[in-house]
Amino acid sequence: MTGLMHGKRGLIMGVANDHSIAWGIAKTLRQHGAELAFTYQGEALKKRVAPLAESLDSTLIMPCDVEDIATVDAVCDELKDAWGSLDFVVHAIGFSDKNELKGRYADTTRANFSRTMVISCFSFTEIARRAAALMPNGGSLLTLTYGGSTRVMPNYNVMGVAKAALEASVRYLAADFGAEGIRVNAISAGPVRTLAGAGVADARLMFNYQKAHAPLRRTVTIEEVGGSALYLLSDLSSGVTGEIHYVDSGYNIISMPRPDVLKA
Ligand code: NAD
Repeated sequence: MTGLMHGKRGLIMGVANDHSIAWGIAKTLRQHGAELAFTYQGEALKKRVAPLAESLDSTLIMPCDVEDIATVDAVCDELKDAWGSLDFVVHAIGFSDKNELKGRYADTTRANFSRTMVISCFSFTEIARRAAALMPNGGSLLTLTYGGSTRVMPNYNVMGVAKAALEASVRYLAADFGAEGIRVNAISAGPVRTLAGAGVADARLMFNYQKAHAPLRRTVTIEEVGGSALYLLSDLSSGVTGEIHYVDSGYNIISMPRPDVLKA
């Protein structure tokens, strides 16, 4: 506990259970003194999210489905009434039809392309605009992305395209809000075993491939993602905006598997 986040209040979006990346981030931020509010996607998830949020002393636990913008507005209104202002937001939300997270990207349907983009990409822009209005003294916005945005990962398909657009959004939003002292960054996490992660076909193969080939020769934990989020959401990173920060055991730097692995 450093007190790095003392006096800072923020919204955590995207906890589904205690395996969620957002949960790893929330635990770390709370350990360092942050006061947290949470959203959950629907009544079914409330049962899981509410006890987790309460265990971090949170009293603001609100429903929010980003496909229904009225629920996003309601969350912002509630935060304004309760806190008056906001210091940070964690957006750890992604979705695509499982049936299209396999096979060819070329076969993506128009309906699922639109839905994936709205939930996984545009929601961050809609939330950023509303959160910025609650940040008169500056703030920090963080989203989660994956390396399938810049390089082809089998089966990741339309999510890779949505993550590419999300990463571009991070840069445009950073430029838009920089003058207000609001920073916008993304963490590009390596594969983590979560509900969303399991939706991608052959997820286990990707997970094991990363273990074999990443410089650190392992995958990352949600607590390690939390450590980097702490940096990006605290004043430690006050000079950093528009960045895509990799937390992937170094996998993104690799061009070819090591000869010892290939020969094995
Ligand atoms: P997760 O399943 O625990 O979390 C995904 C969250 O998105 C859930 O809480 C779900 O309720 C929420 N969500 C989906 N549709 C929503 C909607 N319409 N409205 C509101 N919330 C909605 O999985 P996770 O892996 O922790 O995913 C969090 C983020 O991290 C996602 O953006 C994901 O793409 C990203 N990410 C995951 C990995 C991985 O390997 N798991 C790697 C890099 C990035």
